[in-house]
Amino acid sequence: MGEHTTVEAIVAEIGAQVKGECQWLRHSRGERLATVEVRLLELVKRLRRLILDAAAQALGTGYAGSTLPCECGATARFVSYRRRTLLTLVGELVLRRAYYWCSRCGTSQVPLDECLGLGGASQSPGIVATTLLVCALHPNAQAMNLLEELGIPHVSVKESQRIVLEAGEEVLGDRDAEARAWSQEHADPTEDVRPRVPQRLAVLMDGTTVHTDGDWHEVKVGTFYPFDEAGGALGEKGCVATFEGVEHFRRLWDTEAQRWHLARAPAVVALCDGSTWTWNTVAEYCPPHTVQLLDFYHAAKHLWKLAHAIWGEGSSRAAEWVETQKTRLLEGQLEEFFAALRRWTELERYRQAAEEQLRYFETNRARLGYAEALARGYPIGSGMVEAACKTIIGLRQKQPGMRWRRRMAEVIAHLRCIYFSDRWSRFRARWIERASRAA
Ligand SMILES: [Zn+2]
Repeated sequence: MGEHTTVEAIVAEIGAQVKGECQWLRHSRGERLATVEVRLLELVKRLRRLILDAAAQALGTGYAGSTLPCECGATARFVSYRRRTLLTLVGELVLRRAYYWCSRCGTSQVPLDECLGLGGASQSPGIVATTLLVCALHPNAQAMNLLEELGIPHVSVKESQRIVLEAGEEVLGDRDAEARAWSQEHADPTEDVRPRVPQRLAVLMDGTTVHTDGDWHEVKVGTFYPFDEAGGALGEKGCVATFEGVEHFRRLWDTEAQRWHLARAPAVVALCDGSTWTWNTVAEYCPPHTVQLLDFYHAAKHLWKLAHAIWGEGSSRAAEWVETQKTRLLEGQLEEFFAALRRWTELERYRQAAEEQLRYFETNRARLGYAEALARGYPIGSGMVEAACKTIIGLRQKQPGMRWRRRMAEVIAHLRCIYFSDRWSRFRARWIERASRAA
């Protein structure tokens, strides 16, 4: 419809279109649902276009007479109407805006833009939030394809990268400000604090590497999840991840710990992969009653490493030996376990491999209390730590041939943490709400 069509005319047209479709349906009884659906989708597309036209008419042009006062004290004159296209979740909104210009200071004014709080963006905050979500879950090109398939308005792949990086900086800024406020002033986390203190809370820490800025860099991942009397996950979880080094990780981790009321949880079990930074973080931030356990999956991986060094990969002797040692660990026969490892250090050929693993287990000796932990119904980490790394980082950031810019990797890792912590809908609401206030 043309630029001078009235809202009333568009509304009449919408009515006519719906009526026409209903008449067709009435006269074509016996149509399959599939056909009806296709036609209705087409109708919805046309109606969306009409609704956007009506909205543009209703918003007007912002014309406020032939002149406007300018900040410089002189007068800005009306020059012309200028078009601006904005992508919204409903579709493209084409606005015709009155444009004023002050010849004294060279400043222009577009009252409608100011009124709508447009700034320089050509997408609505809703489009930005949706772009962040799908790009957190899928590579950008796939993400835009997905929106196309679902019939949701979207930006180009290139634009999606710009949006993620730009909006992502803002999101990371909020994350870091919250962590700073907690670590410096003990200001409680402002967002998404869990409503209850969990009875039993597991905290997991691990690192994994991603190819960023031309090399492999470690991303540290922390997960919190409440568990039941049998050690089973209750379904909720909270995650943090960062490429920005251990100090930064610790601040983020400690902030997430406040969200989970870590200090007040009656039972806490810490499952880590054995690296020093994980245990240091546990020692500093977990309550004294925390049970520390070497993540069982990582322990088994180290046993396999030694078994393969001795018997080679795929050998049944290796499998048998690993099973025996795992059983000893689970049953608390630590003397026998360490004796079995030490035996191999006595043979020159296997000394190096055996000593390496012996050191690993000796360093973590106080964290091998699996038998007692199982008796108390605690999880011992049969894959949860590994799964957390894979879910948050691996599935999105470690696909074959992927190369990341470090900052983009940080943004995506954080957005995935929000999503997998079930915080997305609240995050989205805050994003939109802030954009409306800024306007
Ligand atoms: Zn001026």
